[in-house]
Amino acid sequence: MSDAKTYGPGVQKYVEEAKTLCRERDAQLALAKQWKFDTIAVHGLYSLEEAYKRNQGAIIEPLYLSTSQSYRDSDELEAALAYLIPTWCYTRIANPTTYYLEWALALLEGYRTGGDTSCCVTASGMAAIAQSIDPFLVKQKDGEKINFVSCIQVYGGTFQLFNIRRGQERGIDVRWVVHPEDIESWKARIDENTRFVYMEAPSNPQQSFCDIKAVADLAHQWGIPFIVDATCATPALMRPIAHGADIVVHSLTKSITAGGMAIGGALISRRPITTKIVNDHPLFKASFAEYVKFLPYRDNGPAASPVNAMFALNDLRTLRSRMDLVSRNCQTVAEWLKTQSKVYQVDYLGLPGDRLHGLAKGYMKLVDSDDGAGLPLNRYGHLMSFRVDGPPANARKVFDGFKMIYRATDLGRIKSVATIPAISTHQQQGEEARRMADVPPQLIRLCVGAEDPSDVIADLEQALKAL
Ligand SMILES: *Cc1c(COP(=O)(O)O)cnc(C)c1O
Repeated sequence: MSDAKTYGPGVQKYVEEAKTLCRERDAQLALAKQWKFDTIAVHGLYSLEEAYKRNQGAIIEPLYLSTSQSYRDSDELEAALAYLIPTWCYTRIANPTTYYLEWALALLEGYRTGGDTSCCVTASGMAAIAQSIDPFLVKQKDGEKINFVSCIQVYGGTFQLFNIRRGQERGIDVRWVVHPEDIESWKARIDENTRFVYMEAPSNPQQSFCDIKAVADLAHQWGIPFIVDATCATPALMRPIAHGADIVVHSLTKSITAGGMAIGGALISRRPITTKIVNDHPLFKASFAEYVKFLPYRDNGPAASPVNAMFALNDLRTLRSRMDLVSRNCQTVAEWLKTQSKVYQVDYLGLPGDRLHGLAKGYMKLVDSDDGAGLPLNRYGHLMSFRVDGPPANARKVFDGFKMIYRATDLGRIKSVATIPAISTHQQQGEEARRMADVPPQLIRLCVGAEDPSDVIADLEQALKAL
């Protein structure tokens, strides 16, 4: 919010009035910060007081479909549009339903990280990623050739955004790290013109991973932010901000909205972030997600639909127990696949033999869990991949034989879903980039749902028998 002093007395009156509302929200925020993860996921910032005072006692957050908010007079309008008072004014800028989702996500991603966070919800995961990187890709002086460093094991859409839209179309130097688990590969690519460092962990579909704390420390030595796409982990299994990351992005479309009825994204930032960018706006560094929300997001227009925000909010309530269940199911299925002679490779961070298991073990932990000895339980999410012996036609044959597992370019669902990334999500990036990212046509990506795992195994078994 900006300084109210330059405004007339009518505007000031609304600023005064809004102070009560802000106090109530701060009190609710302070209370929510004391809660456990599940309680925050269930309630967020929507309180009994909110229900009684403003929402006719409704126990579920209201869904405001209205495109815009009407003001009592010109003074309130002026105060609102100058961001002097909490307001939503127009759904491209803000919306009450989306607001509850933003706060729930900010609190969950910031849970027990020791710091404060803010969040901006977007229409899709890709929109969140674009909003998270673009503010750093501005020229600061003439003639400079700016770059950023990213692991190459990124979601296919992210690869296109980085490589084509930002690299080829805008001339930004995209520097790929092929072995993100090796800190030396990051060191070798960062220089004074690097604007940020980007990681997807665990990556979709290869299950790539990095030492988050080490990469965050390295980025900070260069005065730049570390952005992590933690879609596959969700805050129930990993909160990168606790390990030094500055910005976390999610495709809410996936495990967070497991019901599969809405597309959405989120950008969550720690307060403050590390950056060398000179930007006059005080929120740029202090509360990056809010900066994005108030300015570039308002101008670029990637706002989420409030209906989609409601679906996300609804599924979010059970995130922790759901991620526990689907992770355990995936573990069972991955262990079974590992014993199959027609499967030559299984990639799942939860497998003790996985080359990145030791690294992931230090980070992927079910929040608020206890193994009986006071330690949290390791959980690795529900995305895995396996490779079928022989030519790519064999993988297609197995894939085509599924009778219960859905064939779709989707993941994170409550239902098991599989795809062949080389011909779907990673088709556009071409063979060379697929080879570098290790996405061969023999690879089937499987996201295990909440079915009984024995039924998922039975489906896989009958499909593998076709070979
Ligand atoms: C799906 C996905 C995205 C893109 O999200 P959309 O909501 O589809 O735009 C980004 N990152 C990862 C890891 C994903 O799986």
